[in-house]
Amino acid sequence: MTRRRDRVVEEITDLYVRKGDASYGEGVSLAEHSLQAAWLAEQEGQAPPLIVAALLHDIGHLLHDFPDDIADRGIDSQHESLASAWLSQHFSPEVSEPVRLHVAAKRFLCAREPAYLTALSPASVQSLHLQGGPMSAEEVKCFVAEPFKDSALQLRRWDDLAKVTGLGTPGFDHYRAAFTAVLGR
Ligand code: FE
Repeated sequence: MTRRRDRVVEEITDLYVRKGDASYGEGVSLAEHSLQAAWLAEQEGQAPPLIVAALLHDIGHLLHDFPDDIADRGIDSQHESLASAWLSQHFSPEVSEPVRLHVAAKRFLCAREPAYLTALSPASVQSLHLQGGPMSAEEVKCFVAEPFKDSALQLRRWDDLAKVTGLGTPGFDHYRAAFTAVLGR
């Protein structure tokens, strides 16, 4: 019988192989963006759950069948909710919660750091408006009470940096050990 870990990793790999070539809208594919985010987390010496969270933070974009240009059509796919609902079936909250909160983290940083807002890429600004814009004072209060807010903020910074066209990174196989660490043997 196939181990649970193998089945989950296979399902994830299949999603990225089939749909990861989709454009992320920033000069990189979704798979490249994901691998760059995970590589940034690993280079900072982060623990396996946060490395896996970085790798899979945009899996929500692979779980829906909306077109790539959905944001141009003025629709928020709520990919963070799709992702965390899927991830929480297989992974602990250390993985699924930072993913659920990575859009909230952007809205939080926009409310708290004017320089963050002005440094956002055009695609991120476009999605920000669809996602509700910078947080209100009340939303900020709720966000800072989230147990995984710090991990979500770290993930957000890697997300924002993981858009370098042509940057070589290790591939998905490189993260087998991290998957084993979070899913067990
Ligand atoms: Fe992302």
